[in-house]
Amino acid sequence: MSNKLFAFEPKVAPRVPIIGDTRQFPVNRIFCVGRNYAEHAREMGNDPDRDPPFFFLKSLDSLVPGGGSVSYPRATDDLHHEIEMVVAIGVSGSEIAKEDAQDHVYGYAVGLDLTRRDLQSQAKKMKRPWDFGKSFEQAAPITAITQTKSCEHLSSGEISLTVNDKVQQIGNLNEMIWNVPEIISFLSQFYQLEAGDLIFTGTPAGVGPLHRGDKLIGRVASLPELVVNII
Ligand code: MN
Repeated sequence: MSNKLFAFEPKVAPRVPIIGDTRQFPVNRIFCVGRNYAEHAREMGNDPDRDPPFFFLKSLDSLVPGGGSVSYPRATDDLHHEIEMVVAIGVSGSEIAKEDAQDHVYGYAVGLDLTRRDLQSQAKKMKRPWDFGKSFEQAAPITAITQTKSCEHLSSGEISLTVNDKVQQIGNLNEMIWNVPEIISFLSQFYQLEAGDLIFTGTPAGVGPLHRGDKLIGRVASLPELVVNII
């Protein structure tokens, strides 16, 4: 069957399920905060007192809505896990004041910022962009979104990741160097934040390598857990 609008069939629009809603959350962009937990900054060889957090992006084909099976990616021998709380933006805005930031939040989810650490390290060394290390197919598994109308705004609570039933990462949301309102306010000085934007808010200490056959369970406060199998 011919398509009059497109040269070939476009991919289905990137989206994430919403808990308690048959409709889905259409994803616009994926922002990520780097080094937002001091212990993680230190384990990566950085000084959190000297270097503030910063941002990078993942492309939309990174999304793995609902988690599940993730293929070990090509071109790496050192795939790393980074468990993160994800903020879903529901109201657009720019130059958002910290006091108003929560009004722009649609909900929260649990996500993994999967990282080809060897490629990222190489890029750092050569002062090149991080894209090859951070943005690739299936690099961002994410749970369904819990809407703020059915949960508190999350500023504290345990964040953890188990790999094959062993706790590898554990921390508390209250350890973020920049909290969620600060992240939203800062980011909105540089971008028009749009409904549909996702923000991965950084990972606590304990990042490490993954292998085929690993089973990951990510937990953030009382949000539904993220289950991912590396195949
Ligand atoms: Mn990360």
